[in-house]
Amino acid sequence: MKNIVSFFLSIVVSIGFSQDPIQVGCGQHRLLRQMLKSPERLKIHHAEQKALEEHEKQLRSQKTKGIVYTIPIVFHVIHNGGVENISDDQILDGLAVLNKDFRKLNPDTATVNPAFQGMPADVEIQFILATIAPDGSCFSGITRTPSPNSYVSNFSGGGDQINDIINGNDVYQGSWSSHNYLNIIVCGNPSDGVAGYTNYPSNSFGNSMNASIWMRHDYVGTIGTSNSLSGRTLTHEAGHWLNLAHTWGSTNEPGLPSNCNSDDNVLDTPNTIGTTWCNQNDTSCGPLGNTENYMNYASCRKMFTPGQASRMRAALTSTIGGRNNLWQTANLIATGTFSSPELCEVNFESAKPVICSGDSIAFTDLSFHNVISWTWDFPGGTPSFSTLQNPTVVYNNPGLYPVTLTASDGINSISETKNNYVGVLQGLGAAIPYQEGFENPISVEDNWFPNSALWEVSTSVSSSGNNSIKLDNFNAIDNYTYELESNTIDLSNETAVTIGFKYAFANKSNGNTDQFQVLGSWDCGETWYVRKNISNSQLTTANTTSFPFSPQPSHWKQVYINNIINSFCVENFKFKFSLKSGGGNNLYIDNINIFPSSSLGINQYSNTIEAFPNPSASELTVKSSGSPITTISVYDLTGRLVEAINNINSNSILLNVSSWKGGFYILKIDGGNGVSTIPFEKLGS
Ligand SMILES: [Zn+2]
Repeated sequence: MKNIVSFFLSIVVSIGFSQDPIQVGCGQHRLLRQMLKSPERLKIHHAEQKALEEHEKQLRSQKTKGIVYTIPIVFHVIHNGGVENISDDQILDGLAVLNKDFRKLNPDTATVNPAFQGMPADVEIQFILATIAPDGSCFSGITRTPSPNSYVSNFSGGGDQINDIINGNDVYQGSWSSHNYLNIIVCGNPSDGVAGYTNYPSNSFGNSMNASIWMRHDYVGTIGTSNSLSGRTLTHEAGHWLNLAHTWGSTNEPGLPSNCNSDDNVLDTPNTIGTTWCNQNDTSCGPLGNTENYMNYASCRKMFTPGQASRMRAALTSTIGGRNNLWQTANLIATGTFSSPELCEVNFESAKPVICSGDSIAFTDLSFHNVISWTWDFPGGTPSFSTLQNPTVVYNNPGLYPVTLTASDGINSISETKNNYVGVLQGLGAAIPYQEGFENPISVEDNWFPNSALWEVSTSVSSSGNNSIKLDNFNAIDNYTYELESNTIDLSNETAVTIGFKYAFANKSNGNTDQFQVLGSWDCGETWYVRKNISNSQLTTANTTSFPFSPQPSHWKQVYINNIINSFCVENFKFKFSLKSGGGNNLYIDNINIFPSSSLGINQYSNTIEAFPNPSASELTVKSSGSPITTISVYDLTGRLVEAINNINSNSILLNVSSWKGGFYILKIDGGNGVSTIPFEKLGS
């Protein structure tokens, strides 16, 4: 149906549905309408739409039916490290849905409303995942960019997300020309309340990435975070991207009686006010509406009409918006979509590279493209050899083992070996009392399992001794979680232990959001539980500095964790330090000790008692800001009483500790409104 009202908006926003007939509110089309209030821009827009219509008329006489156009497509995932970082499988599923819908290969066309039978159109457009990046390098067709702009509450046109991709994606940093690729930008929330949005073809965007399609992660594909009801939103958005309006016209408001006066400029879509639910008897503007059209808002969408196909093919072959560059043979060759791509990258990962002996590891193949066979070698593992794509292997003996994967596309094969990739720990962990001052390790990996090379042993900074461990958070990626995992520790003879450590941290600037946690595991790292959480406001121990932070002695802060109890007390207890980087400065950790709190019969720590300096070689002041101190009992880490000072009855006492043997002690202090235990380190021999 065609009538007088022409396109008004050049940016179209699609509202998503989890189920009929719930409508997710959409506020920002008013903002977009504002953008088109510029008379010059509106004039250009009308001229371009007219040119596209003329082009469509010419195309009809050329009979291009049978020509299948290929569009190279790239998915750019912008994520915050959460569920929005959707899997490759979910993306591939989304691409499969898109291709089925555009080629009318979706089986549900057989069930269209009888009034529209025979009408669903094969658009003869296919989307093929690009395999060559703008710099000529081979890639999977998917890029990933960590950025807080994954979640947007105030719509700003997508510019921040484009900049994030250009500056921070993991494949090629620079612009991905929209004349070479259809860019799909997958976000946590691309704009408040919308499932996706895009632009009609327009020369004003040139080849910039503004001509992309933005998608909310849970509307991509039918698996993972999405579902079968949401999975066709990408088809709908691709329709907009190829100049289709909604069936009721070019607004975001279905169901308005006034929509009978607007049109989608497509000849064979019946006039309708649009529906948000699967109303098969929609005669809102007279004729029976095509409720099942992809450009409607109902969840039973399953067809394009021939008129829509014609309009989309016109958009794809016109110079308006530059979509006609995409399917040229030279571009298909340049983007690796002309012929079946070759194997170029062999890679794999495992979710958990450190296990306890007797446990299994699941390996995931990450190789591309067109891999048809896999040969794995697992020295030390059972099985030691596999031809599965994603095998699971058991390791029975402690040690470090390499893994090799050889993949083949039937013509070429490539091998990838990762040395020391699998770490298998002793079933029975280290005994307590446990002490770690990082004095002996040459590298972090000697005793620890870091998930990044930014964890390093510092030989220039320490709380005591010469060394500490440093996270080079100054050079970290925002929102990435940096973890340092311990070896196993045997707590099987205890019912409660205390973990003590010192750390130092500074912000780089105001507004940093780093979050520090200590987590514990009773199943050798299979599952983790937060035992201590320190948010940025509590985290800093020194003033903000824009230079790489290196702590002074006064910058070290003591932390005790007293909730390692009961279930955690197993023979292979593990703990880990975790810093979710939020733009802050370096983190240092030193003087970790684990001792049984149960052997003292108490495990509380009062903040009214201070003991300083700690560590110390000669003197120790114990001070109470509460009631006077009565008794101080000094235990070694096995719980043996080594000294008792009674009848103190003062708020402050100076102890001479120079005769104590070097090492860790527990001070049990009566006073300060209770009983406290404070670990103390005596320096010297
Ligand atoms: Zn829409």
